[in-house]
Amino acid sequence: MQQIVHTIIEEARRYKAKEVSKVILQIGELTFLGEEQLKFAFDILKEDTIMENAELVIEKIKAEVKCECGYQGGIEYGLKEEFHLMFPILKCPRCGKEVEIVRGRECLIKSVEMEIEENVAVEG
Ligand SMILES: [Zn+2]
Repeated sequence: MQQIVHTIIEEARRYKAKEVSKVILQIGELTFLGEEQLKFAFDILKEDTIMENAELVIEKIKAEVKCECGYQGGIEYGLKEEFHLMFPILKCPRCGKEVEIVRGRECLIKSVEMEIEENVAVEG
């Protein structure tokens, strides 16, 4: 998250933005980054920066895998009894071999909205 915030601030500087108002991130489901966790980190990192008032929107990207048998699609989840949590099974649901991850590990900045004009009237 630190790197993402850093990148956004650099972008904002490049465009001479006055303020960053909204950030949309795309997070793959295999990154295991929790939304709450990310928002929490974002709120801390944005303090005293150009993006202090920015809103964070997180879009999840579904995982997709492919297998040498020709299968391509979503993954299955299993339940880890001892932890009571779901974890992804990186095996082909068709033949059981190990699969290659096509999508789901990304952590991308989809868009950044910023105020650029010098004379924006802000009421209230
Ligand atoms: Zn397969």
